Amino acid sequence: MSIPTVQNDKMREVSMDRLAIVVPCYNEEEVLKIASAALREVLNDLVGKGKIGADSFILFVNDGSKDRTWELIEEEHGAHPKQVFGVKLAGNVGHQFALTAGLITAKDMSDVTVSIDADLQDDVTVIEEMIDKFHAGNDIVYGVRRERRTDTFFKRTTAQGFYKVMEMMGVKTVYNHADFRLMSRRAVEQFSLYKETNLFLRGMMPLIGYQTDCVYYDRKERVAGESKYPLKKMLALAFNGISSFSVKPISMILGLGLVIVIFCVLAAIYALISYFTGHVEPGWTSLILSIWFLGGVQLLSVGLVGQYIGKIYIEVKQRPRYNIEKVLTDEEK
Ligand code: UDP
Ligand code: MG
Repeated sequence: MSIPTVQNDKMREVSMDRLAIVVPCYNEEEVLKIASAALREVLNDLVGKGKIGADSFILFVNDGSKDRTWELIEEEHGAHPKQVFGVKLAGNVGHQFALTAGLITAKDMSDVTVSIDADLQDDVTVIEEMIDKFHAGNDIVYGVRRERRTDTFFKRTTAQGFYKVMEMMGVKTVYNHADFRLMSRRAVEQFSLYKETNLFLRGMMPLIGYQTDCVYYDRKERVAGESKYPLKKMLALAFNGISSFSVKPISMILGLGLVIVIFCVLAAIYALISYFTGHVEPGWTSLILSIWFLGGVQLLSVGLVGQYIGKIYIEVKQRPRYNIEKVLTDEEK
């Protein structure tokens, strides 16, 4: 059932698109019911406005919670069988995998997905704007935090430092975007072709291509419970982000080795001149030069071997090499 609009070539049919809101949950018993109520309200509102189909739903992914999260999901499903769905993972696999499991499960049941954290730190009211942008022809709509006033100083600076480092390392990410995003079904389908196990979703989305846009919102504090991302997990995520997307660190070793070797050659010339002009302790020159020279050669070699490892690493990911959006031929469809 669809009502086509004709304002714009790029406009999608404003239709009864089925929306799936995917919510990864780990030990979220304090917030689950609140999240469910808030998201159902969003669904009802959007259905009422005719922006999504009445069969749209919320998909909670229980990421091996140790508390009553799953029981609560079951309860919610019992109370709202047409609106609240659940996926139970057999164990805790972490936010990124839980989200992936949810997206891939949802893609066969929906036309468009929105992923959001259970703690409602992200503003649910911008989902409507995301849907509007989806109807305007975007396949991915990123939720971007306008400011981070509610985060602690520590979290804010570390997170921003992280985006800067990622940029330096040549990893494309959307600044201040976490995993609150809309993805069309075909975007999730293309994403599912990325078989890599070291997941860093924020870095992968820009690789998919397609038309994208952003919506801006203020990030709030958790409604209840506490962060499931302690510093250790945050650092692991950051390191994973860099090491899954960039071979720059290897090239940096190679570069450093090269610089040291060049420096050594210059130093050797200087030492020889000093030697012949007689201003030097016996033995010092040869000793210090060989230490530096060997160090440089070693770094250079490690860097060189690293270049090959970097290639292997890129190959084993078996990422799709391209994503065809449209083909124009003379064949009738
Ligand atoms: N989460 C998850 N598995 C984990 C850790 C977290 O599914 O192992 C979920 C969590 O329930 C929440 C989202 O990931 O919905 C983001 O976690 P959190 O809000 O604790 O992170 P923060 O906002 O503090 O970075
Ligand atoms: Mg949070």
